[in-house]
Amino acid sequence: MLSRRASSSGLSVGTSGNLSIRVDSGVLITPSGRDPERADLGDICLMDLDGSQIGGDLDPSSEVPMHLAIYRTSDADAVVHTHSPYATTLSLTIDELPAAHYTINGLGGPVRVAPYATFGTPQLAQNIAAALTDRSAAILQNHGAITTGASLQQAFDRAVLLEWLCTLHWRALQVGRPKILTESELADVRDQSARLRYGSQR
Ligand code: 13P
Ligand code: ZN
Repeated sequence: MLSRRASSSGLSVGTSGNLSIRVDSGVLITPSGRDPERADLGDICLMDLDGSQIGGDLDPSSEVPMHLAIYRTSDADAVVHTHSPYATTLSLTIDELPAAHYTINGLGGPVRVAPYATFGTPQLAQNIAAALTDRSAAILQNHGAITTGASLQQAFDRAVLLEWLCTLHWRALQVGRPKILTESELADVRDQSARLRYGSQR
């Protein structure tokens, strides 16, 4: 289960983080305050898009407003929220993760940091939905990270990519001032990826 992998791979610690997926009847989401190492599939909650619980015995994640805001305002079908260490470290100091490495195109470009608001609040949900405009990743100021995808696997892979990019940027800041790619260099990467159909090989 991916929420267990988020924990065992160090992306999340203890009960932090949550994930969800859009289904025909609403949104399946992890329960609140549960250590993924000790949770199983029967603990998953089902919500409708208005935030009413329609399945599951446990209370859903406190971040239901944030997940639902993303499903209401984008075509994402899965959301992964973590407190991964390097993204969370940078969330304390930066306003945007710049394009220091070309693979940031996999997240839609430079990653915005959504302004801080208390966890689980509609204000945080609103801040994150705005930060995700034309992006599949955002950093939550003084909190953590969020990624979206067409599947849970894609959202999870993006969480790993975001954490790698944050690690790289943090390391670069220790030894100098990172060089940042221009928008035109990023556009060239998009063209080259399309030309090579990069990543489509099975
Ligand atoms: P939940 O355990 O309620 O999902 O909350 C964890 C979290 O990361 C809050 O931002
Ligand atoms: Zn959180």
